[in-house]
Amino acid sequence: MTGDQRTPHAELGVIGGSGLYALLDGMTEVRVDTPYGPPSDTLFIGEAAGRRVAFLPRHGRGHGLPPHRINYRANLWALHSLGVRQVLGPCAVGGLRPAYGPGTLLVPDQFVDRTSGREQTFYDGRPLPDGTLPGVVHVSMADPYCPAGRRAVLEAARGSGWEPVDGGTLVVIEGPRFSTRAESRWFTANGWSAVGMTGHPEAVLARELGLCYTSVNLVTDLDAGVETGEGVTHAEVLAVFGRNVDRLRGVLFAALDRLPRRRDCPCARALDGFTPGLPGVPEP
Ligand SMILES: [Zn+2]
Repeated sequence: MTGDQRTPHAELGVIGGSGLYALLDGMTEVRVDTPYGPPSDTLFIGEAAGRRVAFLPRHGRGHGLPPHRINYRANLWALHSLGVRQVLGPCAVGGLRPAYGPGTLLVPDQFVDRTSGREQTFYDGRPLPDGTLPGVVHVSMADPYCPAGRRAVLEAARGSGWEPVDGGTLVVIEGPRFSTRAESRWFTANGWSAVGMTGHPEAVLARELGLCYTSVNLVTDLDAGVETGEGVTHAEVLAVFGRNVDRLRGVLFAALDRLPRRRDCPCARALDGFTPGLPGVPEP
């Protein structure tokens, strides 16, 4: 770890998605190494709402990493190693219902994993580079997102006059291609709300470290089976995100302010009963 002379520390984390490459001015850059390799970028630490916040651009600040190449384990590990215990994960998604058009803010309460081949656990039975062997851990994923974090984001959005969709299912596809119309119609027929490429495995990895994780979805387009035109393009996604990024940042700041200073949600107890055996991560 390099950078600031003091030991870098943050209690809250934000993993910014497409279009959100910076959070605050004047943040301190901190390079963090992990047993899983480097995270997507250096981390940025600053103060928001009187609390230390670490920001990490999920795709790297130049958007060099496609969703399937992101080192999700390194990203979550890096945040945790700085002391972060509550994470907000904003990302751009496609709406799967006509009512969820561009500019909709959705705070899902479920996800469906349609990715393939992503490293999605810290507990895979293989020794870490330092020879430590993590234990076997099966975390509950019945309710994948932090209830306190969801409440904070919903209240923050309502407080800013941006009425959010409370709940719904985010289906996460492997990408980097968008969905076919048939896939999109199938997602919609299943009652799912939005489709994205980065929502998984962040929530799982956060839970495996006992972190609170809240997914925050900004709808940038209607998915191929819902809209009637040519289908979504990446340029459209970024354009819609650009028009909404400032108010999304405002909601994130207000949500950070509302996150409880003392956790009494179940997330912190996710590893009770297991002997994880992960090294080098200090507990508060
Ligand atoms: Zn929690």
